Amino acid sequence: KFNKTLDKIKTYEAGKPIELVVREFGIEPDQVVKLASNENPLGTSPKVAEAIRANADKAHLYPDDSMFELKASLSRRFGVPEESLIIGAGSDQILEFISRAKLNEESSVLMSRVTFAMYSIYALQQGARILRTEDYRHRPDEFIPMMQAHRPDVVFLCTPNNPTGDATSREDLFAIIEAADPETLVVVDGAYMEYAAAKDPAYRIDPAEILRYPNAVYLGTFSKAYGLGGMRVGYGIARPEIIQALMKLRPPFNITTLSLAAAIAANEDEAFVQKSLQIHRQELPRYEAYARERGFEYIESYTNFITWLFDEERNSSEIADALLRRGVIVRDLASYGMNALRITIGTPEQNDRLFSAMDEVLG
Ligand code: PMP
Repeated sequence: KFNKTLDKIKTYEAGKPIELVVREFGIEPDQVVKLASNENPLGTSPKVAEAIRANADKAHLYPDDSMFELKASLSRRFGVPEESLIIGAGSDQILEFISRAKLNEESSVLMSRVTFAMYSIYALQQGARILRTEDYRHRPDEFIPMMQAHRPDVVFLCTPNNPTGDATSREDLFAIIEAADPETLVVVDGAYMEYAAAKDPAYRIDPAEILRYPNAVYLGTFSKAYGLGGMRVGYGIARPEIIQALMKLRPPFNITTLSLAAAIAANEDEAFVQKSLQIHRQELPRYEAYARERGFEYIESYTNFITWLFDEERNSSEIADALLRRGVIVRDLASYGMNALRITIGTPEQNDRLFSAMDEVLG
């Protein structure tokens, strides 16, 4: 017998690789502009390829399961002790550990109405009940009363939020964390924090600040600003008691030798991240200007993507499909109940392609 609560979960299917889909429209894979997954359009640090090559002859050896060097490097970057770190195959894997550690059929979790889909998927895998706010923004006047009324086992705070791109101010975020019951675990997901921190210090959350709270955990990832989506490395930062509870669920050798080497190299190359943030800062206003010119709304972005909102005259699914036929891949948010597109800010050339494809689609 299978767990019945799994029936509530839509099968997580990627389908055909997008390069094959666009080929059906006569577009060669190398002409595709992929602005759908919030990857770093500049790639990753050149030091990563070097580090991977340097480890190419170690495929027969198990990786360092203590992850000593990566933990030391993260510990220096964030000023947190190594006992406060856990490394996952993407921050996704740490979300999974959190759900397995904290949730069962009697549990509930609280999250924004529109937020990262994996929170609810992992919670449903455990049979937990999902509670959501009305607004997609993380507002203390919604979160605090709901936390008091329902005493959820886990609260997910995604800042900046995916897929909407807004961020929660420090003031609001700490107000929510401080109002949580000591039994509630508060997860602060900072997957896109580098972008928010570069934009406005009032939105910057340092992982070390999360260690002030005995019931909070900070999640970060190498998949976005650090450009390592394909290597699957994320981290959790919390008090040692929480880390020890999560470590019990970690399979041995969950991070491969090459991923560890890549993450260490990426973590040490701050100049690459600064360059990525600078190009992003130049390019984001073009997306705001385009929306204004074309008469549609957008959500102010604190991330490496922007969410364009359409009125009834335009349909996001149709636009996404028409862009796909022109070799430009964006994320339609219809499945979140929004008539909106989420578009990763690309290189200047990729963004030119997106705008000219949009010009053709909108006419
Ligand atoms: N949190 C958020 C908000 C995300 O958008 C993502 C990636 N889409 C993740 C976590 C997971 O990232 P990864 O597993 O690649 O570290």
